[in-house]
Amino acid sequence: MIARIAGSAAAIAPDPGIEPVGVLPGVGSALVAALARLGLERVQDLWFHLPLRYEDRTRVSAIADLRVGERAQVAGLVEAVERGFRYRPQLKVAIGDASRQTLLLRFFHFNRAQSEQLQPGTRLLCYGEVRHGAHGLEMVHPQYRRLGEGDAVSVDALLSPVYPSTEGLGQKRLAGVIGKALTLLPPAATLELIPPELCAGHGLTSLRDALLYVHRPPADAHLGQLMLGEHPAQQRLAFEELLARHLSLKRLRAAVRRRRAPRLADDIGLRRRLLAALPFELTAAQRRVSAEVAKDLAQARPMLRLVQGDVGSGKTVVAALAALAAVGAGYQVALMAPTELLAEQHRHNFRHWLGPLGIEVEWLAGKVAGKARKLALQRVAQGAPVVIGTHALMQEGVVFAQLGLVIVDEQHRFGVQQRLALRDKGQAGEQVPHQLVLTATPIPRTLAMSAYADLDISSIDELPPGRTPVQTIAISNARRAEVIERIHAACGEGRQAYWVCTLIEESELLRAQAAEVAFAELSAALGGFRIGLIHGRMKPKEKQAVMDAFKAGELAVLVATTVIEVGVDVPRASLMVIENSERLGLAQLHQLRGRVGRGAAASSCVLLYQPPLGQLARERLQVMRQTSDGFRIAEQDLLLRGPGELLGTRQTGQLSFRIADLARDAHLLLAVQQVGERMLADHPRQTERLIERWIGGAARFVQA
Ligand code: ADP
Ligand code: MG
Repeated sequence: MIARIAGSAAAIAPDPGIEPVGVLPGVGSALVAALARLGLERVQDLWFHLPLRYEDRTRVSAIADLRVGERAQVAGLVEAVERGFRYRPQLKVAIGDASRQTLLLRFFHFNRAQSEQLQPGTRLLCYGEVRHGAHGLEMVHPQYRRLGEGDAVSVDALLSPVYPSTEGLGQKRLAGVIGKALTLLPPAATLELIPPELCAGHGLTSLRDALLYVHRPPADAHLGQLMLGEHPAQQRLAFEELLARHLSLKRLRAAVRRRRAPRLADDIGLRRRLLAALPFELTAAQRRVSAEVAKDLAQARPMLRLVQGDVGSGKTVVAALAALAAVGAGYQVALMAPTELLAEQHRHNFRHWLGPLGIEVEWLAGKVAGKARKLALQRVAQGAPVVIGTHALMQEGVVFAQLGLVIVDEQHRFGVQQRLALRDKGQAGEQVPHQLVLTATPIPRTLAMSAYADLDISSIDELPPGRTPVQTIAISNARRAEVIERIHAACGEGRQAYWVCTLIEESELLRAQAAEVAFAELSAALGGFRIGLIHGRMKPKEKQAVMDAFKAGELAVLVATTVIEVGVDVPRASLMVIENSERLGLAQLHQLRGRVGRGAAASSCVLLYQPPLGQLARERLQVMRQTSDGFRIAEQDLLLRGPGELLGTRQTGQLSFRIADLARDAHLLLAVQQVGERMLADHPRQTERLIERWIGGAARFVQA
């Protein structure tokens, strides 16, 4: 059917790419559903579903030649098997090969049959990442196949792409259907959306060649280059993806900026009254940023401004001043925070600051239910001036009378879509509210240019005076007892401490359990001192009660999960221990550590780690020991991890790129901007199609 269309209608270029995946032979409804779970609905979605990496099973490596960090295929004989229970059940299998070296295979999830199959003498062909273990090289959960007595070791002829997939959809099947889609790739001229005159000088290869290459790299492809994403074919695709992202944000911004917003100039002097009542002077940076915000708010065009400032730089008061401008002009303000704990804290601060000015602060969190919720909603609908809450603010049924300003704290926890949903609450005809976004994650320039192209950025690049830097040390868990002893001594001097339990990949339940275990351990070890526990499975009221007690100095130690990561402000706490710190990313470690060092007392942070440390973890802890500068940490983070995690987009799926990597591809961004500008100006239809191609459903959703 598609073949026929391809020959006809010269006026509209036929585009097999926009056909549903169901047109491909052999793709039935079950497969269509599985593909839809990956967001793959049209044929072109399959073209642009790019491999995450490649596996080289075209050869077998000798164990003696393995290098830490590489993925390799090894063939060997099982020499020993051991089931162990250190920390958690595990199966250890030692294999050896002709190079007379041993490699340890380590399994944490295994069944009885599996452990019985791996008896000494069994021949195995396995593939996995080589790591540095306590007793030499190892692979954790390698893929493996048993080889029969006389089986030859067979290797693949081509590099195998590994695609992002979903449960129930194996790599083979996915690769098969992508292969079918690729047979429909139109000729280069039809496929290109970037006008050729714009590409000139940027050294871009043909899109068609690039796609065919990355999906099916030939056997002699430079694997190293491919793995790093530096092959010209990948760079071509990365360029286009970055361009699509940039264009979608620019278009979004343009659409918003075409709307009108209320002019918010505080003409009753609320701002002056708050400043006079504060127990401190604003820093120069706070004054500058606050002025930038005030200037935006006074315009009839919607503000789209991101205020970035390191943890403790005092963003809250800047937000409060913005809120006063809106209230002073007779409009409502909504402040949304990502966690109940943080929202609570804002409520507390705002009540403390705005109450004396006669401004009520309304509270709307997920747990406000029944009659209380009904009344709260009524007051919001009737014009309550300041409404603070969690994403409950965005729910249906929340109607504002005159929303003039939306403030979103800790933006990286929310996606663009959520931000817009809240803004839409304030839509009145052509008029939309102003938006102020606060983030403690400093945003490197490269990232700002692409990920936040829809926002103006202000930086609070100065901490309030009198802060002492946090002294940071990394200590092996083997010396846990010493660390506890140290806490004991600190409590004896009247200091307060956080003990943070981190288990990132597990469930909230497991996190809570880990915290309870630590709580029991510390309670036993620190007899005589009061210890509190806080985790995500407690009721908001319970959490608040514990926080209040800690704030009031009634608790010496607070055992917590990472629920305290964002925003929690207890200036008196001066010691923090982070368990399993090797598992956390830099941004998260920095956030956590930012909970101490807020008062005048010298503070310290102990990064407890479970040896042996991997290369990446070692580097991260090193960075943490060396600097407390959020900008430097964010930059290192970008280098070490890539931007997806930096922005916390693993949760929201918002900014994960398919192929681009902002750290690696930063050199493309200037060209992206240049080409982008001309496309927006001169090629609106191509622009639309490019966004549709790369961002598809998500872009449709966020269209302003
Ligand atoms: P963050 O930027 O991390 O949100 P906060 O707004 O919570 O920081 O401020 C951190 C602490 O510093 C709060 O206790 C706040 O009252 C205080 N603070 C804010 N601005 C100043 C200032 N200019 N001088 C002294 N303390 C300040
Ligand atoms: Mg804050």
